Parts: sequence; C-alpha cells; structure tokens
Amino acid sequence: MSEARDNGEIANLATSLKRHLERRQRAGIRLLPKGAPPAARPLVNQQENISGGAVVDSSAGVAAGSEARTLEALREAIGDCQRCKLCSGRTHLVFGVGDPHAKLMFVGEGPGRDEDLQGEPFVGRAGQLLTDIITKGIGIKREDVYICNVVKCRPPENRNPEPDEVAACEPFLKRQIDLVQPKIIVGLGKFAVQTLLKSNVAISKLRGNWHSYHGIKLMPTFHPAYLLRNPADKKLVWEDIKKVIKELRGEDA
Ligand code: URA
Repeated sequence: MSEARDNGEIANLATSLKRHLERRQRAGIRLLPKGAPPAARPLVNQQENISGGAVVDSSAGVAAGSEARTLEALREAIGDCQRCKLCSGRTHLVFGVGDPHAKLMFVGEGPGRDEDLQGEPFVGRAGQLLTDIITKGIGIKREDVYICNVVKCRPPENRNPEPDEVAACEPFLKRQIDLVQPKIIVGLGKFAVQTLLKSNVAISKLRGNWHSYHGIKLMPTFHPAYLLRNPADKKLVWEDIKKVIKELRGEDA
C-alpha cells in the first residue's frame, strides 16, 4: 500500500471525525457521555526536588476545583477521584444534593454505608432524621436545602476522616459553599463543625450559638446519628433549629 494512499485515508478519517464531532456539538451533546465518571484531574503534582524526594504541589487540584463556576463543573473537576486513600473502598463518591442556590446548607462528616451505596448524602437512618428535621421541623422540602459532607467518600467502618483525607477533600467543600452561597450553614456534629471552624472546642460547647464561616452564619448542632443514640438531646437540636428558622425568616434570633 502506498504512503500517499495511507495519507489520503487518514485525511478522510480526520474529516469524518471532525464532521461527527461538529454534528454532536450542534446537537448539544457533551464530549463526555453523561453519567460516566470523568477522568480524575490530579490534585497532587509530584515533582522531583533537588534531593530526589517528591515535592507535593497541591495547586493543580485546588485550582481544578476553584475554577469551577457551577456545582456540575465542580463535580466534573473532582472526576473519578483518587486524591486520597478513601477512593479504594468507595462504591460512589457522594458529592452533594439539593438546591444549588439554597439559603440553607447542611454539612455532615462523610458518607456512611447507605450513602456510599446510593451516592447521596444522608439517606440512611440518620439521614431520615435529618429529613424530618428539615421537613417537619423547619417546614421546607429536602430539595430546597443543600446537603453535603466534609469528605465525599466513605471512611472504612465509619471511622473519622483522617487529616490527609480532609486536606484532599476540603477545597471541594469550600468551593461548594462558595457556589451555593447559603445564608446559613448548619454544621452537623463535632467533626464537621470542628473542621469548618478550625476549632477543638467540644460540640456541646459550640452548639446553639452562631459562629461565622467566612462571613456565613454557621449554627453547630448535634449530628443526627448522635441523636439516634441520645434521643433526649433532640430538644437541644430543636432549640438550635428554632434559631435557624428565625434567622431564615429574617427575625432576630
Ligand atoms: N453521616 C454523615 O455525616 N453524612 C452522611 O451523609 C451520612 C451520615
């Protein structure tokens, strides 16, 4: 076969591929099939330092998240995330759910077994209690708030996320908050609240009082899973939630 004929076939292939892609673009079809996890963009660029060791440069991944202009784009930037060791045990990465412009945002710790299986935060027993707090307590629909977690993948045996896992995932939580711009964040439980506030103070001391997360009002309260074990403390959470309702309505809390 002649080189000229090979070149001609390659040119024909390129032309038909170009036309095919143009037709898809005109039809509004994205280059990546919807639903398929996009490839992970590296959070960590490893470069050789002068002594031959690895230097961690987290700027690429942080930039990947911080460039996202929508929650959908942020989810795409996270991709099929391999940025920390939690990826090895997950079924689904649990990004977040709800109104992208919600006034009220709930932040939990990390997905449990049910959330890992279903790919949605707070869908297990603790999630049912949170849904009751939202729908029966506050009187709004679950779809009208935004719900997410500090880490997006389930820690094994539901242990607390470790510092490197939080460090890998926190930029994405920050970006979610930036994009949703809620009026109020409710921090669910010790881990989420201490992570958001960079505090070691006990949740029993922090709850019930307004705090600020980069200028956004933050109400710490007990985690619904804690309430399942300590139902007597539901009345304390109801006190916290009443303050949230007043603030949402624009009344003095
Ligand atoms: N606990 C959490 O902190 N988050 C969930 O999504 C479920 C349980």
